[in-house]
Amino acid sequence: MRKPIIAGNWKMNKTPDEAIKLIGELIPLVKGAACEVVVCPPYACLAAAAKAVAGTNIGLGAQNMDYHDSGAYTGEVSADMLLSLGAAYVIIGHSERRQYYAETDESVNRKTKKALEKGLTPIVCVGELLREREQGITAEVVRMQAKLALDGISAADVVKIVIAYEPVWAIGTGKTATNEDANETIKTIRQAIRELYGDPAERVRIQYGGSMNPGNAAELMAMSDIDGGLIGGASLKAEDFSKVVNYG
Ligand code: PEP
Repeated sequence: MRKPIIAGNWKMNKTPDEAIKLIGELIPLVKGAACEVVVCPPYACLAAAAKAVAGTNIGLGAQNMDYHDSGAYTGEVSADMLLSLGAAYVIIGHSERRQYYAETDESVNRKTKKALEKGLTPIVCVGELLREREQGITAEVVRMQAKLALDGISAADVVKIVIAYEPVWAIGTGKTATNEDANETIKTIRQAIRELYGDPAERVRIQYGGSMNPGNAAELMAMSDIDGGLIGGASLKAEDFSKVVNYG
């Protein structure tokens, strides 16, 4: 009942020309995919990428947005701007934004609400730091992040959100959570959503992210509560990303 969704987070990689090339290579490789496929290039590539994915099964997302509609916010990009460029998804609260750009649980919540108001699908990232895992507080951290991200959001809207559980120590490091650990933490997040909304929690898709690649995608995707992946490094090569997308 939850359609898996696999999204590529290109981070600060690729020029518009390179984006067109990568998407061109990807299109034939993922056209039969059973899951929802999304690529999230940098802002500068969105216009080119929108043309490249038009008419295919590849959806387009951005990596961040501002929660204001418009105004004196130098360097920021609004939801309307993303929509006008053809984006339908937006990653919110990625750990790199929390770590380097002062993203907070409050701004994540405001951005998530704005994305929903505007009709973008938010991919909301949560996940513990290594020291939090070592302290044994992973469950507390992800429960708190998830509940704060969802503050004030209706049950009708919560089912439109995708959550990405990304243990921060597993991002870009080659280390992955074990399949069982990832699944257990995702169950913990789902339970937190259940406490807020009841049964609609069963409809919320929760991805795993953190060094997911062609070698481990099938076993992660076989777990009961993992509904997809947010893929960084392995989304930058068409062959690797397509193998993750075609994990079955
Ligand atoms: C990410 O940035 O969301 C991510 C999961 O990166 P990587 O796959 O490279 O660990």
